[in-house]
Amino acid sequence: MISKKCIFCGNPPTDKNKEHVLPKWLLKLTGDEFRTVNLGYNWKTQQQIEFNISSFTFPACETCNSKFAEVESKVKVIVERLLVDEYLNYEQINLFLDWLDKIRIGIWLAVNYLNKGHFQIEPKFFINQRVGLKDRFLAITNLYNNHKGLTWIGANSPCFIYSPTCLSLQINNLLLLNVSYEFIVSEHLGFPFPKICQLQPNNGMTDYLIGPASKKFNRRLFNTKISEPHIKIMQPIYKQGKGILPEFYDNEYVKENSYDIESGIGKIFLEHDNLLYSMEKDEEVNFSMKEKIKNGAPVKIVEPTIELQMELLNKYRTDTSLLSEEQTNNYYEVKRTLLNYSRDYLEIYKKVK
Ligand SMILES: [Zn+2]
Repeated sequence: MISKKCIFCGNPPTDKNKEHVLPKWLLKLTGDEFRTVNLGYNWKTQQQIEFNISSFTFPACETCNSKFAEVESKVKVIVERLLVDEYLNYEQINLFLDWLDKIRIGIWLAVNYLNKGHFQIEPKFFINQRVGLKDRFLAITNLYNNHKGLTWIGANSPCFIYSPTCLSLQINNLLLLNVSYEFIVSEHLGFPFPKICQLQPNNGMTDYLIGPASKKFNRRLFNTKISEPHIKIMQPIYKQGKGILPEFYDNEYVKENSYDIESGIGKIFLEHDNLLYSMEKDEEVNFSMKEKIKNGAPVKIVEPTIELQMELLNKYRTDTSLLSEEQTNNYYEVKRTLLNYSRDYLEIYKKVK
């Protein structure tokens, strides 16, 4: 794969290195590290995107690359423990969420590159600019089925190519549905959250108009139904919100539910079986669900992933009053096209299945 930008910092790489989008240890853990994989259809050429998984690499700077090398060795241990229901501490869960940010953005950059020219999206950010920046969500399901393999789900869908909001991975017997998006768990957890998002005419950015915290848990998180059984992990991250509206964050509720209020990092919350609770830094948790999986129906992962991508595209009420008529029309046209494409994508998937 040839691109001219470092996958981590987005600059032309210094002392050029190759970074595996999917780390080598993960390829080894899940099968032959030199196997051929299929990413789906190239939207432009309508050909299957197939390649040797070991060559799924992107250029990276030497320094950017080595910074993450240490993370990879720790995450290997975390995944090995998750596969067999062993306990994880706060630091490990936090690091795992960072790693999922890295993988999600890395796959997004790669998929954009592989579909180059079709969607005309020029990535505005790279891995370094997105790790641990926005609220994150992870649903974990252990299938306990001795499956060996690595699958990424929802990567080649139009909504994901447009914005890397939600991606699922299957790592052997583990299903991981991962979301990171502006304030996506904040309302659910009683933190300040946006009432409206306002589109900016000049830079294509979005301003979030945040309202005060409800200071209590809200029952509903997504409209999309995530297959049971699963355990939810959630973490509000309000670095950006606090910068604009420090007064909304300066209260006991936010303080109590944050590890580090100054840096805008909320606690890690877990939810399952109608229980919702935060994790202290000295606690350890495990994700055992053995009894529930035995008699359960098959756990769907493709449908919820694509449906969630579609839901997130329209998450907040949008204010287009600052845009010109042409910009407004373009904005809605892009959204309509993405949703239509995604619906087709889901239909095709259901037929093939
Ligand atoms: Zn770099």
